[in-house]
Parts: sequence; C-alpha cells; structure tokens
Amino acid sequence: MTITQSWTERYAGALMNTFGPPKLVLTRGEGAHVWDADGREYVDLLGGIAVNALGHAHPRLTAAVTEQLGTLGHISNFFASRPQVELAERLGALLTGSAVEPLETKVFFTNSGAEANEAAFKLTRRTGRTRVVVTEGGFHGRTMGALALTSKQAYREPFEPLPGDVVFVPYGDAAALEAAIDERTAAVLVEPVQGEAGVVVPPTGYLPAAHRIAHDHGALLWLDEVQTGVGRTGAWYAHQHPDLVDEQVTPDIVTLAKGLAGGIPIGACIATGGSGKLFDPGNHGTTFGGNPVAAAAALAVLDTIEDDGLLAHAAATGARLREGLADDPRVTEVRGAGLLIGLDLVEPKAADVVAAAQDAGYILNAPTPERIRLAPPLVLTDQDVDGFLAVWPGILGSAGVSTGSTAEEGA
Ligand SMILES: *Cc1c(COP(=O)(O)O)cnc(C)c1O
Repeated sequence: MTITQSWTERYAGALMNTFGPPKLVLTRGEGAHVWDADGREYVDLLGGIAVNALGHAHPRLTAAVTEQLGTLGHISNFFASRPQVELAERLGALLTGSAVEPLETKVFFTNSGAEANEAAFKLTRRTGRTRVVVTEGGFHGRTMGALALTSKQAYREPFEPLPGDVVFVPYGDAAALEAAIDERTAAVLVEPVQGEAGVVVPPTGYLPAAHRIAHDHGALLWLDEVQTGVGRTGAWYAHQHPDLVDEQVTPDIVTLAKGLAGGIPIGACIATGGSGKLFDPGNHGTTFGGNPVAAAAALAVLDTIEDDGLLAHAAATGARLREGLADDPRVTEVRGAGLLIGLDLVEPKAADVVAAAQDAGYILNAPTPERIRLAPPLVLTDQDVDGFLAVWPGILGSAGVSTGSTAEEGA
C-alpha cells in the first residue's frame, strides 16, 4: 500500500463524504508546483480553485502571515485592527479604479465566498424589497442563502425549501433580465464570468445593460466576483476588464473571496454609495471576519500582484495558454480572460482528461462532463505553460477524446 493509499483510507474513515474520494494527498507546494504523499510532483493548474493567486509557499505571504500572527493574531469585532482598515480602503480604491469620481465604498469582511454572499443577500433585504434576480448556471455558494441564489438543481433539491423570492433568468441575455425585473426587485446578481459553469463569458454589453436595467427599476447591481476578482482575469476586478465589458460599470455590491488572501480564508462584501449604509449596528456580524492575519495576508497578496506586475503576467500567460489549448481539433472552444480559462471538448470526457492529466503530472478540473477549467496561480511560468502544452495532445489521446476522424487517435 502506498502512503497515499493509507491516508486516503484514513480520510474515508474520518471525514464526511461530501467531496467524493480525494484525487491526491498533497504534502507541500512551491510556486505553481505541488508534491503528493509519495513524493510525486505536479503542476497545479487549478490553484485551489482560483485561490492560490501567489502559488504555494510564497515567501511574502508566509512572512506577512507569520509577522501578523506573532504580533496580533485575533481580536473580536468589538475592536479594530490596522490591517482590516487598510484592506477595506485598498479594496475600495481598486473598485474606483480609473473612475474620475472616487467611489464611496464600505466593506464587510467574512471568511468565505458563501458568507460574503450571505452578507450581500441580507444587505439587499435592507432596501425594503425582497426579490433577487439571478442567472441560470450561476454559482454563489452552499449555505442556505447562497444556495437559494444558485441554479444547479442537484445542489438545491436535497435542501429545499430554500429562502424565497429568487427569480432565474438565462445568463448573458439582457432582454430576459429586462423582462424579469420590476419595482419589487431588490437586486440583480450576476457573475462577470460564470466560473463553476465552466468559465462562461457573457457578451461585452451584458454587464453595462444589467447595470442600466437594475438602476432603471431602483434595484441594486450585485456582482459576484468571488472567483473572478483580485487579478484572476488580468484586471483587479473582472467587471473592469476591457475585454469583458464595453462600457464602465459601477456595481452597488461586489463580493470577493477565493484569491483575495492567497489561501488564507477571507471574503468581502463591498458596497458602494448608499448601499454601504444599509446595515445598521446589530444587523449582521461575524467572529472571524476581518481577522488581522487574514487581512494582512490579503494586503500581501495585493502588494505582490502590484509590485510583481502579476495582472499583466496573468493576461500574457493566459493568452499563451488559451492559444495553445485551442490548437487541438478535439477542443471546440476556449473561453476566459487572464488565468481563468474554460474549454469545451468534442466529447463529454472531461473527467477522463482530468485523470489523464494527473497521470502526466498536471492538475486540472472538470466543472461539467464536457468542460475543463484552469485557474492556475498568477505566478505560473512560461516554462510550465509550454511544458503543459507539449503534453496536452497526448493527454487528450490517453483520455480517449476523439474527433471521430481516425487521424488523431492514439496520440
Ligand atoms: C466559489 C464561489 C463561491 C463560494 O465560495 P466559498 O468560499 O466556497 O463559500 C461563491 N461565488 C462564486 C462565483 C464562486 O466561484
């Protein structure tokens, strides 16, 4: 029995079976590389699902966490800490971006994406309206409120009844949104790019249209940037990316989490203008949210992205990856921006491709049976990209993906 097998057995004996059997038992990482319990090395092209922005064991993140933990590790929210305040200011300034008028922003910190969305969901109720219009294929988390906003039937059905007054419309369809919204609508919730659906990119006019439609009806525009935020797409926020929107969008609420602290649990619900004042003392709370260690980690991530030019690096590395991936006839479409990439296969063999990639030393993800997602660390190197692209056709061949013509078989 390998070391991996023995830990996998103990895992099954000790942990709830919510994720299915683990694909690997990992013991350490460095940059975009990880090693399993038996010493095998992999290139991590999933990055903890768009979380490990700086890769694994980044010295700046390690130092920031170590220093903060050795100084002041946790306080209750009866008190304030400097990292918490600085981080809230930084996130607000990045949201203002290049806008002429600085945005007035207010932040509520949480420990996860679902919790950031729960905070935002409660915030929308403070408008005096209850309805939230959400999109088919959207994913917003697994807690009861976030789940109510998530469309996937298999996730919802075992837990119904869920909090109500949620209306679903097709994603990327401004006319459908216009038809669904009225004076009862508190908020429109969309992801700038749908991550869990397999990196689905809407038309560039969609977010600006959603913005206008929401505001025409006195509703809030709420963008879930839990997966797309913090440099993932090559812009600080995906809704600022010129390839994703054709006009400036000013959301009323933005939620963040995954990449924000590079692997230390954190989430943020950011509200602009009047929406930032909807909560009164006692309306919401958290014990850990805004924890100084998590806030210091997030500040180190933001500093490193800025100092190391990782937005431009993500854009260039992502373009290189997308081009190479599309270069195979067994790939029918490649989507995404920066280092959030999804592709469609000619056949629904995504799980086999993930397994073949793992055998070849690469970690990928299959969000649907025909789609592959990549969300690697923003520090992914060109050598790692080229190494992967060199074996990509062979991975598709080992997974038995075929165009139907016999030419490419057995690659
Ligand atoms: C992952 C994700 C969430 C949930 O985040 P958790 O930290 O897993 O609770 C919410 N929204 C989007 C868009 C996500 O990708």
